[in-house]
Amino acid sequence: MASADQFNMQNPLTQYPQPKFPEQPQPVPGLASKMQPVPDHGETSYKGTGRLNGRKALVTGGDSGIGRAAAIAFAREGADVVINYLPEEQSDAEEVIKLIEAEGRKAVAIPGDLKREAFCKKLVETANNELGGLDLLVNVAGRQKAIADISQLTTEQFDETFKTNVYALFWICKAAVPLMPEGSSIINTASIQAYQPSATLLDYAPTKSAIVAFSKALSKQVLPKGIRVNIVAPGPFWTPLQTSGGQTQDVITAFGSEVPMKRPGQPAECAPIYVFLASQESSYITGESFGVTGGNTLP
Ligand code: NAD
Ligand code: MG
Repeated sequence: MASADQFNMQNPLTQYPQPKFPEQPQPVPGLASKMQPVPDHGETSYKGTGRLNGRKALVTGGDSGIGRAAAIAFAREGADVVINYLPEEQSDAEEVIKLIEAEGRKAVAIPGDLKREAFCKKLVETANNELGGLDLLVNVAGRQKAIADISQLTTEQFDETFKTNVYALFWICKAAVPLMPEGSSIINTASIQAYQPSATLLDYAPTKSAIVAFSKALSKQVLPKGIRVNIVAPGPFWTPLQTSGGQTQDVITAFGSEVPMKRPGQPAECAPIYVFLASQESSYITGESFGVTGGNTLP
C-alpha cells in the first residue's frame, strides 16, 4: 500500500486504506505487527536526502506508530537514533533497530517505563553516552484510553495518563536540555485533542493541551541556548495506541471517517514534519504547533 516514496504525486484521499476496518482489540500497549492492515511507517517508502547527516536523536515511543516513522526517517536522513519503548514491545522495536542499522546508522534500543523519573533521567544519560552527544529530542511516547463516562474514569487512570504524557516529557526535557548543544531541536507530540477534545478522552485531551503550553514556554526558556522547541499535533493516525483501547472498537472500524480526508493518517505521513522541525531548515521556527490532521484544521 505504500507509494514509491514520499515525493510521488498522487491523490491523498486514496493514497492509503479507508474504513471500514476490522475490529482488532489488543492488550495495551499493542503491537504494530498485529494490526490489520499493518500501518505504513515508511519502511519501504521513506527516501532520505541527507537532511540530518551526523545528528544524534532520542525518539521515545520509537518502536511503533508515529515514533517509528520518525525514527526510520531520521536514520534515512543520516542520524544515529536511540529508541525507547516498553519491554512488551520488544518485537516491534527489533524491526525498527534493523531498519536503522540497514542505513548504516547507529541504533540503540533502551526499553523502560517513562512513568518513573529515575528511568527518564537514565534514558537521556544513556542516549547521550551511546551516541556521543544528543542534539535531537523527539518525545512521541503517549498513552490514551477511551472512557465513556466520568464516573468510570479512575484516579489511577487519570494519574497514569498524566505521568506518561506530561510528567515524563518534563523529566526527559529536564535531563536533556543541559546536554544539548546550540542548534539542537526538541519536538513534542501533542494532538488535535489539545484543541478539539473528544467526549471520551477527559484525561488524555488535557495532557495534550499541557504539552502545547509546556512546549511553548520551554521554547522561550531555551532559545537563548540556541535550542528550538516545536510541537506536532496529529489527527487520527493508524497506530496501536488507537486499536489497543485508545478508542472503542466501534470507533476503530470507522477510524478516520470523521475527518475531511475520510481515512486515518498513516505514520509515514507524519515523518516529514518531524524531519523538517529537526533539521536546520526550520531555523526560524520555534514554539509552533503543526497540525497533521487530514483536514480538521487547528485554530
Ligand atoms: P503507538 O502506540 O505506536 O506509540 C505510543 C508509544 O508510547 C508506544 O509504542 C510505547 O512505546 C510508548 N509508551 C506508552 N506508555 C509508555 C511508558 N509508560 N513508558 C515508555 N513508553 C511508553 O501510537 P502513536 O499513535 O504513534 O502514538 C504516538 C504519539 O502520538 C502519542 O503521544 C499519541 O498521544 C500521539 N497522537 C496519536 C494520534 C493517533 O491518532 N494515533 C493522534 C494524536 C496524537
Ligand atoms: Mg508501540
